[in-house]
Amino acid sequence: MRKMIGAVLCIAILFCVCTASVSAYGEHWLDTVEAPSDYAYSFAVVGDTQVVCERSPEGFTAIYDWLLQNHKQKKMQMVIGMGDITENKTDMKEWNLAYEQIMRLHGKVPLSLIRGNHDDTAMFNNTFYELYEDTDGSYEAATLNNSYQLLKAGDQHYLILALDYGPSDAVLRWAGDVCKQHPGYNVIVTTHGYLDRGGKLLPLGDKNVYGSGMAYHGCENGGEEIWEKLVSQHKNIVMVLCGHVGENGVEHSVRIGKHGNPVLELLINPQSIDDQHALTGMVAMLYFTQDGKTVTVQNYSTIQKKFYGQPFTAAVQTVAHTHAAVDTAFQHDAAAHWQLCPCGETVNKSAHDFSKGACVCGEQAKTSAGTSVTQSGTVTTTAQAVTATQSTDVIAPAEEAPFPILPIVLIAVGVLIVAGMAIVIVKLARK
Ligand SMILES: [Zn+2]
Ligand SMILES: [Zn+2]
Ligand SMILES: [Zn+2]
Repeated sequence: MRKMIGAVLCIAILFCVCTASVSAYGEHWLDTVEAPSDYAYSFAVVGDTQVVCERSPEGFTAIYDWLLQNHKQKKMQMVIGMGDITENKTDMKEWNLAYEQIMRLHGKVPLSLIRGNHDDTAMFNNTFYELYEDTDGSYEAATLNNSYQLLKAGDQHYLILALDYGPSDAVLRWAGDVCKQHPGYNVIVTTHGYLDRGGKLLPLGDKNVYGSGMAYHGCENGGEEIWEKLVSQHKNIVMVLCGHVGENGVEHSVRIGKHGNPVLELLINPQSIDDQHALTGMVAMLYFTQDGKTVTVQNYSTIQKKFYGQPFTAAVQTVAHTHAAVDTAFQHDAAAHWQLCPCGETVNKSAHDFSKGACVCGEQAKTSAGTSVTQSGTVTTTAQAVTATQSTDVIAPAEEAPFPILPIVLIAVGVLIVAGMAIVIVKLARK
């Protein structure tokens, strides 16, 4: 079966290569491609939907119908948006449509969204505020613009790092810290503007020149700067996904980071295809092997029900997961202390050590006080292990008064003396 699919794929690819030189992208529709069958899990990437959102509620709905119908069967771990959800920044009609459709997936499959230059920041955050609950961290409280989510798929741990369009230096510093704090996570950076056509990095450009120039939109950093300041610096960044620049298929490139690590970069923006083919509603499916080291990318039209552009397979240089604590906070019970890896596993677990007073975890030794009663009826109080300052919760019982033995002896002696004297007086009187 696998061989047959492979053969069909090869024929399809050959056919496409042969015809591509003859005509333009009219022939990029592929009827014969089948989704791979030998993958362990997948991510679904929804590129810029701006054209569909503006022109066709039915078309927009078709995308989310398909995702709802297929997320289980395709073992989707996450549905990832590339920004430019809407065309007209603050148009309530578009935002309502986006909310109604995208949130159909909420609670069924994890969602990660980013903001594009066509999306108003406040509208984006207000519309999708419920998704903030699903994040594992964010640059600013209660905002989605710059946030991340952790997940485990196959043999790999992933950190999906969603960054705003043209992130600021402060955001890039925060993003770098997040990468450093999660060394055992494969970081997938998502940001709207990053790659240009032909695998080049998108320049920040001139703020006065409209076009690909991100500076014109008020961005502090373009693709070149995001690569330089963030992506190239961390060997656990394994992929970058972006949109913004209209492409005919899914464009991919590999860039080498400063640690010698290859970074797979995908430009996923079907807005031109939507334009030229009366709406396509493309979803780019990323199918991974169990070890996460191989990804097959297929671009599917949920409206035309056909594949568009050649599927391709690329290598991903994954990082091994080593459990590490993100912050220094200790968890405790009576016997031990430990820290938590973000994956939920325990790290640095060991018994409390009070030999130097307080334990390294900050825990203080507890005082315990008890009593013992002697056979003679005398009561003594004993205190043990009093190395603690934290003794307020242990109250020693009050000492009871000792039995008054001395006065009794004295009284008895006095009585004996008086009795003795009385006997002597009586005897003398009889004589
Ligand atoms: Zn854009
Ligand atoms: Zn872990
Ligand atoms: Zn301890």
